[in-house]
Amino acid sequence: MDRFTDIGEFGFIDRIAAHAQRNRVLCGIGDDCAVMAAGQERVRLVTVDAMVEGVHFVPQAPPEGVGYKLLAASLSDVAAMGGKPTDAVVAVSASGNCDVGYVERIYNGLFACADRFDVAVVGGDTTRTSGALVLSLTLTGEMARDQVCYRSGAQVGDAVYVSGTLGDAVGGLGVVLGDVDLPDEVRTALLQRHYRPEPRLDLGQALAETRAVTAMIDVSDGVASDLSHICQQSGVSAVIRAAAIPMSRAFVKFCEVSGKEELDLALTGGEDFELLFSVSHKQVDKVEALAEAYSICRIGEIVAGDGSVMIEDGDGKRVLLEELGYDHFGG
Ligand SMILES: [Mg+2]
Repeated sequence: MDRFTDIGEFGFIDRIAAHAQRNRVLCGIGDDCAVMAAGQERVRLVTVDAMVEGVHFVPQAPPEGVGYKLLAASLSDVAAMGGKPTDAVVAVSASGNCDVGYVERIYNGLFACADRFDVAVVGGDTTRTSGALVLSLTLTGEMARDQVCYRSGAQVGDAVYVSGTLGDAVGGLGVVLGDVDLPDEVRTALLQRHYRPEPRLDLGQALAETRAVTAMIDVSDGVASDLSHICQQSGVSAVIRAAAIPMSRAFVKFCEVSGKEELDLALTGGEDFELLFSVSHKQVDKVEALAEAYSICRIGEIVAGDGSVMIEDGDGKRVLLEELGYDHFGG
């Protein structure tokens, strides 16, 4: 018998991926969203995310934040294809003595996110469980077929970019767990990034319209892990420059006070929900033109290789990143 802890989340996905193929399916398992043909020129996007009490959120988490983040995580997957979100369905499994008011507050947060990003919550399912509270959300989206940004198109010589700053969400988790003494404005900034992540939908759509993006993913497991997904699916490697990794002042303060190593945490901390993407070197200007309206930062290059990610220090020395983020079953 193989256990999940033996094969890991990604080992399990490999086993079931072969069953997802049909003609209308342009991309099944293995990208941020599944992509299905919807006529000649459009596609439909579908993604699902689940959150389990005690695994994805701690009991002291504000329920509105849990609900907001449940939808925001899926919105980020639609953003990572360059798409526009449309509708959501939500399933909740709760034990018989679970506080209804608590679950209602989770839904309040979810609806606040849905209103903000113009998503309709069109249905769902409620079931009873003997254990922890489980929430699952399925989101659909749509976009032009010839603009979809898959993970698999990165080419040697492409520039690698990331939006926003990295590490804030994991800093926010440190604040929730209460193990650091920080100024109020730092706490507030990090908690905001942890519970109210900003899916980069406008940026994702703007990037898709440039047609200069060769591969894109959202930062859910940490840049080290997420960039390795792009590299493995594109058959290339990547080099990122340590000095170019964008970090917020709040995150740097958090690391200083908690004694954490900034670069390690920025590269392996998950759930920043920023966009990580490669751009054809001939078309970098089209993406640089977006830098006036959006926070984007060039962090490295795609090089020939076997799917690995290297980090380059100030002296040009390159080190392979072995620590690749967070696998849900710890495999
Ligand atoms: Mg994703």
